[in-house]
Amino acid sequence: MCGIVGYIGKEQKALETIISGLEALEYRGYDSAGIAYLNNNHIDIIKKKGRIDQLKKQLDFKIKSKLAIGHTRWATHGEANEINAHPHKCGQVTIVHNGIIENYIELKQKLENKGYQFKSQTDTEIACALIDYLYQKEKNILKAIQTASHKLHGSYALGIIVDNDNSLYAIRKASPLIVAVKDGEKFIASDVPAILKYTNEYYLLEDGDIVNLTEDNLTFYNNDLEKIEHEKMIFEGNIESGKKNGYDHFMLKEINEQPKVILDTINFYFDGSLESLKKNLPNLNKYQNIHIVACGSAYHTGLVAKTLIEEIAGLPVMCEIASEYRYKRVFYNDKTLVIVISQSGETADTLASLRKAKDDHIDTLAIVNVVGSSIAREADCTLYIKAGCEIAVATTKAYTAQLSILSLIAIKLACIHQQIDKKRFETIVKEIKNLPNMMTSLINNKQYHDIALKIYQREDIFYLGRKIDYAMSMEGSLKLKEISYINSVAYAAGELKHGTISLVEDKTPIIAIITDDEIKNKTISNIKETKARGAYVILVSNYEEHDQYCDDNIVIPKIDPFIQPMLTIIPLQLLAYEVAKLKGCDIDKPRNLAKSVTVE
Ligand code: GLU
Repeated sequence: MCGIVGYIGKEQKALETIISGLEALEYRGYDSAGIAYLNNNHIDIIKKKGRIDQLKKQLDFKIKSKLAIGHTRWATHGEANEINAHPHKCGQVTIVHNGIIENYIELKQKLENKGYQFKSQTDTEIACALIDYLYQKEKNILKAIQTASHKLHGSYALGIIVDNDNSLYAIRKASPLIVAVKDGEKFIASDVPAILKYTNEYYLLEDGDIVNLTEDNLTFYNNDLEKIEHEKMIFEGNIESGKKNGYDHFMLKEINEQPKVILDTINFYFDGSLESLKKNLPNLNKYQNIHIVACGSAYHTGLVAKTLIEEIAGLPVMCEIASEYRYKRVFYNDKTLVIVISQSGETADTLASLRKAKDDHIDTLAIVNVVGSSIAREADCTLYIKAGCEIAVATTKAYTAQLSILSLIAIKLACIHQQIDKKRFETIVKEIKNLPNMMTSLINNKQYHDIALKIYQREDIFYLGRKIDYAMSMEGSLKLKEISYINSVAYAAGELKHGTISLVEDKTPIIAIITDDEIKNKTISNIKETKARGAYVILVSNYEEHDQYCDDNIVIPKIDPFIQPMLTIIPLQLLAYEVAKLKGCDIDKPRNLAKSVTVE
């Protein structure tokens, strides 16, 4: 969460570089934005509540500056206003911060006793004062940052500049930060899109590392202040991912990218042969139970995988929300595999869950999008999805790409446990080849807008499904909530009558999903129960003949359950999108949300 950008360069293009970098990172937070830049030996700070556009209006881009730090905030401590916006300055030190300082109250008291006074409600201002205090004491900024890192508890990526010191400094712990160099210019940033305009090469900081960037030098230090080298990373994704390319929204663009993304992801691991699954996926033979741990949409992909692995491969799977898993008593044995799923690879609770499993010496497998991210580096084995940069806060293509890898894992497990025969395997291979075309046809289906017109003014919309369709309902409902702000809950279809059906009244929209032959009649009975009470039922199903049970029926092609979810999700994404568009919502940057949840 939150975007940090820092610049130092002979070109003196600090203002425009910081702003274009922040714009590329705005998906990480957009409560407020601010910049501190060197202007004739003085540090000017300009901050504004709201989006980067508001900040831009205040800036004089004619000013030539060679050093600056900028921030786009997702508030954790203190409301989203100008005073709490970053950068914060105390004494001679100015900082931008991503993360949470957990012991800030205790530090605040100590610093107040030393004479510091605070203007904001943020934890960040305390970290800033601490570095300034240590700098005044030690007269060495590197030592001050190092000592501060031992006193600050929590998570932080910090961009730091100091009065009368033509340098940029940064340190990170449990929050992402990259460093990049292009000719005479150097950058720090929370994520790669901020630097793609200049270069696709970058360095990753390890926890505790400190970096010093000057006009002429780039020096990395470990936390003992020994000089170290870092390997250069290359971003292999498409530089165009930062642009909308004619689409109204990044979300729509990313929905349309899904056929290619799943093809790229599946092809990377699977060439249609069992040998490729054996070679490219980890050896899963020894595992007898699996824990899948994730947050948000990634958790929903875990629920899909749970159903597939349990129902078809016959292995017990526990799928748990990471913020619960990390604190609860968990029962492992030496045949447990822990799978963690995170788009950014930095999701704080998922990372903590991974560490918990590792502390207990349990094998871990990560499914991640961002190369070199903390989760990717710390897991015993990492499988990358090939989704490229996802900009819209509500995930679509990363979700489907995660599903595609989980499907391959489920297929591999089913093969290991001899639960699918050769004929079924070959059918799946054929269907996978055709999957991108089927996805594209579903994306181009013209029903979504008309259906959205009938429901977008409603205050509550319910989603129903059983088993795998329940997992799909949960993701459909989350998409709708995230971007349209309509209250929506997903229910296991049989559960509705145990309470929630009291909320169904005339024309209450119910979006029901049926792709599982075995229990379709049971879900149809539940649909009838809601229709009898006036519900407006939109069915997403494999069955044309189901028109009689619903008001609208979106028919999706029937394919093997291992890969069906990648089709089922498309109408749910597009219904949410069309509803949010009709409501005039800010689809790519929904209120209160941000991408890459690096706080707990
Ligand atoms: N905790 C800090 C604040 O609330 C930083 C939040 C962020 O990462 O944007 O200002």
